[in-house]
Amino acid sequence: MAEIENEVEYDCRECEGLCCRHVPIEIDTPSCKRDYDTIRWYLHHENVRVFIDHYRKWHVEFMTPCEHITKDNKCKEYASRPKLCKDYPSEEHHCENFDLPYTTLFKNAKEYEAYLEKKGKEWRWKR
Ligand code: SF4
Ligand code: SF4
Repeated sequence: MAEIENEVEYDCRECEGLCCRHVPIEIDTPSCKRDYDTIRWYLHHENVRVFIDHYRKWHVEFMTPCEHITKDNKCKEYASRPKLCKDYPSEEHHCENFDLPYTTLFKNAKEYEAYLEKKGKEWRWKR
């Protein structure tokens, strides 16, 4: 969890530790049948989502809390937390309690398939 700064509009004391409760990993923009299929496979798993961020980058997201977050949304290892946590939020990675990290979110395979259909993508395999 980030420290509170006066100039920015987020307050970790008022948040449920959103940034500590998932693992988003950037993936290549899907561009072929195999890519579409891989994303469908991700989305067939529980607690896995896929999103497109504000920079049009795609991510697979594992909805799982960090082992160090407490029931009252504090970091147990605050002093030795990863640098990635210390550097968050940043110009590129906005505080998600203030600004949602995605422009498009797929919570399951059905939502993604509907998106592919709408975009006119050939995603079905013959067999
Ligand atoms: S999402 Fe933002 S407000 Fe919430 S804990 Fe993380 S940095 Fe703090
Ligand atoms: S180490 Fe601490 S700050 Fe980093 S994700 Fe875990 S609980 Fe959050």
